Amino acid sequence: MAGYTTTDPTTGRTIREYDGLDEAGVERTLSQSADAYSEWRAKEAAERAAILERAADAYDERQEELGRLIAQEMGKPLAQGIGEAQLAGSIYRWYATHGPEILRSEQLDPQGAQESLVQTEPIGPLIGVMPWNFPYYQVARFAAPNLIAGNTIILKHAEICAASSTVMADILHEAGAPDGVYANVFAGHEQIADMIADPRVRGVSLTGSERAGASIAETAGKNLKKVVLELGGSDPLIVLEDANIDEVARTAATARLSNAGQACNSPKRMIVPRHQAQQFTSRVIASFEQAVVGDPTDESVDVGPLSSVGARDTVVEQVSRAVEQGAHLHVGGEAIEGDGAFMRPAVLSGVTPEMDAYSEEIFGPVAVIHEYGPIDQAVQLANDVPFGLSGSVWGADLERAKEVADRLQVGMAYINEHGTTLAGLPFGGVKRSGFGRELGRWGMGEFVNTRLRRTSAA
Ligand code: NAD
Repeated sequence: MAGYTTTDPTTGRTIREYDGLDEAGVERTLSQSADAYSEWRAKEAAERAAILERAADAYDERQEELGRLIAQEMGKPLAQGIGEAQLAGSIYRWYATHGPEILRSEQLDPQGAQESLVQTEPIGPLIGVMPWNFPYYQVARFAAPNLIAGNTIILKHAEICAASSTVMADILHEAGAPDGVYANVFAGHEQIADMIADPRVRGVSLTGSERAGASIAETAGKNLKKVVLELGGSDPLIVLEDANIDEVARTAATARLSNAGQACNSPKRMIVPRHQAQQFTSRVIASFEQAVVGDPTDESVDVGPLSSVGARDTVVEQVSRAVEQGAHLHVGGEAIEGDGAFMRPAVLSGVTPEMDAYSEEIFGPVAVIHEYGPIDQAVQLANDVPFGLSGSVWGADLERAKEVADRLQVGMAYINEHGTTLAGLPFGGVKRSGFGRELGRWGMGEFVNTRLRRTSAA
């Protein structure tokens, strides 16, 4: 029975230890979720929506407290944490507003019968396995559409998010979700595998690494359970020749440093015309040097610690391996001595296909800058990674930018913005970034039964 521990990555001090779920707890969770499902699915959608609406209000009202909690738990700068709490609230509100309509049955052309009707119904208890980098947002993306659809949820958060995951469960219960509709569990990986295998569980959604995704998908496959995977990314950001180089460099640098670079859809690779690469690179370097690294609760700080010393050491090792393999390090890349999981933001260039840094995900404040000659080379570089989450193209000629964006092998392509996520827009990737979609009406389509009812005269 492994426990969960929260550690402040700013100080390295343990905040609290939590007991793990015991075996009786596994069975209790499953049976409560299954029992709650029959009542939850039978409620009017409007009743479920009212509960989600109250949860959304709570995210708004408690945004400061929620922001502080994750600043302490995983090191997110306070303003960003508050923004994340607001975003999570907006997702609950979006599904409260639009969910009932999306669930409405649809009359098809009867095609020879009196009626051909498509109904949308829930499928049962689901498991969500979530990462620490956006503790509230990731959960909202999965929980809100599925709760409005009438499914029940067993949520296993990252081991370092025990406190925020507890608060999220409290918010839903206080908003009126009956017992068993949403259960937060401090479960181990084997317990999750056992739960996925249990016939009462109907599906599983994981956001996290490829390794975790492969393991969860294997268990789900063996047990013929539906699975959605939101995995890693190494997003390209392509700068076109007619872009405002200085402005785009500043925006790209800020985006790359957001959440200390620990975002699946961060612009990890910046692809710049050769003759403008020096100008772009020097602007990114300047932004990285000027970024204040420190205590995430200090308002003047831009970059907090990474989520743990282990996570920081992995990124520092990736940068030094890139240098050993021949990449050019312009600035940063070293751990900051002393307590906590801090590092200096790094800028790399000269990364070639033989180097690990060319194709692996670097989950920290590191920009890799590539140069290109013809536009085909930019597109080739952008697509030449195992991932396909999102990508962006920047330039003044929008038709040209759209043409380039249409060639990106991604789930989300942006022009003159990067990584926008809103409740009503689909979110998800292709290739090794996973499969399935979250958010918007697409997020409600994954774990529902699209049921045909056809009626012919007797
Ligand atoms: P991780 O895979 O280590 O952990 C994610 C979650 O999966 C945690 O709760 C962890 O305990 C659990 N887990 C891992 N292996 C498991 C197993 N075998 N069985 C059951 N549970 C298991 O990932 P992380 O380090 O917390 O997060 C970083 C990764 O997540 C990055 O690759 C990032 O790109 C990705 N990510 C993707 C998205 C997206 O939407 N595509 C969003 C955020 C993060």
